[in-house]
Amino acid sequence: MDPSTPTARPGDAQPEDGSTGGAPFRSGFVALIGRPNVGKSTLLNQLVGQKVAITSPVAQTTRNRLRAILTTPAAQLILLDTPGIHKPHHLLGERLVQSARGAIGEVDVVLLLVDASQPAGRGDSFIVDLLRHCRVPVHVALNKSDRVGADAEDLAATYRELLAAGDDCPVSWPLHACSALNGDGCQDLVEALAADLPPGPLLYPADTVSDQPEQLLLAELIREQVLTLTREEVPHSVAVRIERIVEDEGKTRGKERTAVLATVLVERSSQKGILIGKGGQMLKAIGQGARLQMQKVFDGPVYLELFVKVVPNWRSHPGRLAELGYRGD
Ligand code: GDP
Ligand code: MG
Repeated sequence: MDPSTPTARPGDAQPEDGSTGGAPFRSGFVALIGRPNVGKSTLLNQLVGQKVAITSPVAQTTRNRLRAILTTPAAQLILLDTPGIHKPHHLLGERLVQSARGAIGEVDVVLLLVDASQPAGRGDSFIVDLLRHCRVPVHVALNKSDRVGADAEDLAATYRELLAAGDDCPVSWPLHACSALNGDGCQDLVEALAADLPPGPLLYPADTVSDQPEQLLLAELIREQVLTLTREEVPHSVAVRIERIVEDEGKTRGKERTAVLATVLVERSSQKGILIGKGGQMLKAIGQGARLQMQKVFDGPVYLELFVKVVPNWRSHPGRLAELGYRGD
């Protein structure tokens, strides 16, 4: 795929005994595609068993394509989390859509995620049409199965009809009911996806779960708290830049502490006010929430210092987007 893709270390044993039942080991890339908020990032975290992508009830949380890596005895799946496909409103919106579309062209399998607690709608049909002529196998995950009751079959039928509706190119991709939230159906889903990958070796060491640089994960953990804690007008105008990470900065109760200094960028001074809050309460809560998550990443105490800075229109400046790591590829 891309030249920076790491290969397995020589010491990484390939399962070549009976563990794959004599079938060849398989490996490859799976793109998660779907409308915003259907649960792509939640599924990614569920599949790899730990938090690698941030999630939130606010649409358009995921800004970058993230690779999460899932290794089973039979296969290695490199999962690409893509920003939700939607109509672009400004430059950042366009970059998000480009990024999701780009992913479709370079993978072995596409996983189309839908929110099966709602009937198929226009947003789904836009994406299905985008995928109809796709040359690789497509699977459909009917996510949020924990939310559907007796009407599960009726809802699934609306998705089946949607696939069959294309005049020039009806499709009958396999449907898999699952819940990214509680894990139901996820194992079957992984097996179905793995079966459609080409035979191949481990592409990453078996214990890798993400290719995301640590800085980006830390920035995302802060952004997640902002999305969760602030009012609606702030989230999409927020970017986080990690300024410095100092390991072994000191000790807390005898354990090495890591210091993280970060700047939260917003577009307007009114948003800065909201982020800081009365007497600094909001920024304190954001910092505390992010610090708890970071302590899991570092497996030790973290000191987090947050600054808030106003950068007017950062979303519309290609240079600033690149600086913050948002690529249109
Ligand atoms: P994305 O935009 O597609 O990446 O969606 P997210 O993973 O950020 O999830 C959006 C929202 O849907 C979050 O509030 C999740 O907790 C929720 N969600 C995701 N998967 C499920 C699921 O299987 N069941 C339920 N009930 N909620 C889910
Ligand atoms: Mg997401």
